[in-house]
Amino acid sequence: MRGLMQETPLNVCQILDYAAKWHPEQLVISKNVEGPVISYSYAELHKRARLCSIALAQLGVKRGTFVATLAWNTSRHMEAWYGIIGCGAICHTLNPRLSAKDLTYIANDAQDELIMADATMLPLLEKVLPGVPSICTVVLLTDRIHMPSPSVSSALGREGAVKLLCYEELLGAASAIPGALSAFRWAQVDEYDACGMCYTSGTTGNPKGVMYSHRANYLHAMLLLQADSLPLSAASCCLAVVPMFHANSWGLVFAAPMVGARLVLPGPHLDGASIYNLMETYGVTMSAGVPTVWLALLSYCEEHGLTFSTLRIACIGGAAAPMSMLEAFEVKHGVEVRHLWGMTELTPLGTVGNPKPASIGGRTRPAAGLGASSGDAASSASASSASASASSSFRSAYLGAKLKQGRPHVLCDMRIVDDTGRELPHDGKTVGHLQVRGPAVVARYFKAEKSAVDAENWFPTGDVASIDPWGYMSITDRSKDVIKSGGEWISSIEIENLAMGFPGVLEAAVVAIPDDRWGERPLLVLVPRPGFEPDAELREGVLKYLSERLAKFAVPDDVVFVPQIPHNATGKVSKLTLRDMFRQHKAP
Ligand code: ADP
Repeated sequence: MRGLMQETPLNVCQILDYAAKWHPEQLVISKNVEGPVISYSYAELHKRARLCSIALAQLGVKRGTFVATLAWNTSRHMEAWYGIIGCGAICHTLNPRLSAKDLTYIANDAQDELIMADATMLPLLEKVLPGVPSICTVVLLTDRIHMPSPSVSSALGREGAVKLLCYEELLGAASAIPGALSAFRWAQVDEYDACGMCYTSGTTGNPKGVMYSHRANYLHAMLLLQADSLPLSAASCCLAVVPMFHANSWGLVFAAPMVGARLVLPGPHLDGASIYNLMETYGVTMSAGVPTVWLALLSYCEEHGLTFSTLRIACIGGAAAPMSMLEAFEVKHGVEVRHLWGMTELTPLGTVGNPKPASIGGRTRPAAGLGASSGDAASSASASSASASASSSFRSAYLGAKLKQGRPHVLCDMRIVDDTGRELPHDGKTVGHLQVRGPAVVARYFKAEKSAVDAENWFPTGDVASIDPWGYMSITDRSKDVIKSGGEWISSIEIENLAMGFPGVLEAAVVAIPDDRWGERPLLVLVPRPGFEPDAELREGVLKYLSERLAKFAVPDDVVFVPQIPHNATGKVSKLTLRDMFRQHKAP
């Protein structure tokens, strides 16, 4: 028998209706690409997103049309998202850090018909659009004074076949249509209908399209808001550092309006100084981004002797958070870290590293942070009498638990299996292939003939991991990055984490290099911290430090110094590039 409750389909545009109705005064603050910071309310964002939908419909965008965006995190980009989705179209985020060749492939694969882009993306569009005949309209997310001269549209190629339009003018025209706004309704959708698309990076073959439904995005946003995940509330101020083109900014632009949190959108500049200034100026309490961004922010704070006056929670995901970063946030700055693991294919959150008290001696993180005496929120009276050694053992248990990628949420079932698909124990030691399933996990890639999952819906993540008895998952490597030496698996992530704890090391990456005797051996690639020389002393120091902490076979045979470690389009270390760079390297 079917339940007798209302069968209202979940539609992500309802989130904005909610924010405009119940949090109309709450601010969205945006550093726009033209420079100035603008600030307006959710009520205004809601109105402009609906005007955007009206304007897109006038341009012929319909239910199921693929509309691409190529833009940084700004309020206009957010309006465009809801505007596109609101007329039943599919919002396809393109990553401006990808090459023109990859973008051309992706836009063709999706058959995007219209693109909404920052005006600063024009040089990239000039390279991409000649190869994408399906795109006939470009809407620049800017106002008339920042529009390029008419001659630019001819530079977009295809002999005038591409129309170049101004976003603010389109909104102005939509608002001038009598009664249009008051009569407007979001497209009525089935909750399983597609509303967004994002391509995976394609480091193993062509990029693959992950197509999100309203339902997956909606449920995922609610999961983000669980107290053990990325807790946001009407009292929070969230800085969405992770780009909207990187797995939907991990759902933040849906989750923040869902609870009326203040939202800060940082625009194109994600360097330490820009992020720090936004945090301090707008009272940011929570933020999320990849380790590379946090590394730059923490270095900026260190160089200038700064700390955070309002930041309470830093979410680190997309790549492993090293211990040195956990310590800097938790101990030095008193900022709680949430270590996240996820994938584009998971909408994207899978696990959060927030320790269960029972797993760390029955304690919770003291409200005052780990910096001073490490107390016990559960029994603050006993905290004051806790011995210094008990405090430091709690601190290391707590940080040790946080170093793991964390526990799955209620909609992400998880297991590890061996090469034959046999399920492996949760003993914290056995390492296997990580698989997940759930309503926000991909079932099939866009245009793929085959399912992405097995008969029981298990999706192979391509990660190699262990799961401990508490349910904490630890990633050892991506399967394609695993180092196999003399039959043993060596975790590059473990070596990187340790190396980054050595004083002279700013960034570390470990890759496999071919070895006649062992098959593969780990090579440690380092960027020295400013003030440290890339010399034999640093090299010997790091190797000694590692040999005191790692099994003998896991200690790298050699260290090479580089001025910079290459990163891919989502800000992660590009192991592919490093392997190519050092393929011929021979350890001394
Ligand atoms: P891609 O980089 O393939 O485009 P994603 O951005 O979705 O796709 O990255 C997913 C991958 O990033 C995961 O499979 C995992 O290897 C890695 N990853 C994400 N978060 C973490 C983390 N906290 N620790 C280690 N690896 C992570």
